[in-house]
Amino acid sequence: MKSYLTIALLIGAIYGASARATAEDCERGKKFDIALLSVQWAPGVCASESKRCTVQYGNEFIIHGMWPNYIDNRYPQNCCFEPFLHKDNLDLITNELRRYWKSLYDNDSWGFWIHEWKKHGTCAKFSALKGQFNYFNTTLNLFKQMPIPNWLTAAGIKPSNTGIALEAVREAIRRGFHGRPQLACTHSSSGLPVLSEIRFCFNPESLAHVNCPAETNSCKSKTGKVLLLSA
Ligand code: AMP
Repeated sequence: MKSYLTIALLIGAIYGASARATAEDCERGKKFDIALLSVQWAPGVCASESKRCTVQYGNEFIIHGMWPNYIDNRYPQNCCFEPFLHKDNLDLITNELRRYWKSLYDNDSWGFWIHEWKKHGTCAKFSALKGQFNYFNTTLNLFKQMPIPNWLTAAGIKPSNTGIALEAVREAIRRGFHGRPQLACTHSSSGLPVLSEIRFCFNPESLAHVNCPAETNSCKSKTGKVLLLSA
């Protein structure tokens, strides 16, 4: 009898300890400085020679992800074990997700969304993005409120196969968004960096627009120009 009790206590202790460890892991993912919305320029992403786009795309901005980030550009990932809920949970917004958060590599975007949720969404637990439906829905809403093409047009910037000053693009976006963006580029055989992503920063709780930390150098070139390619 005594040995049964000892075994039961042992199992309880092990189980309890591992449960506590998981909670602590989640806790560590809790604090982050910035909710970073990463938006892709589809023709720029698809100019990359490293991965071929397999779906139809046009001159469009689409969502890559909403990423909890730290001010020094580090970020937490795969924070808490929260399985992807049943797909029906996103029923109300699936059509919009397909339009604005589409996979460029697969006609079925579910794999992409599940990846983004597991890697980043689970780290957004204690913010205005908390919860799976909310994570996707809030991200969609923030994206839809940003007329990025209009901001570029207002600054006289349009897609072309000739270089545009990187700082002109940054300033056009900064003006429209009221916060400094991060710009990211891929590389093509033309020599100039190809603009592929614009990243926007929000306060994780109020979702106010804030300046992003300085980016890494992927868009730097000798001439200071980048390509905003046309589809
Ligand atoms: P992340 O892990 O959030 O930094 O995203 C990187 C992963 O997402 C890589 O596996 C990319 O190939 C994939 N990815 C990025 N953009 C897209 C997109 N528009 N469609 C599908 N997969 C994408």
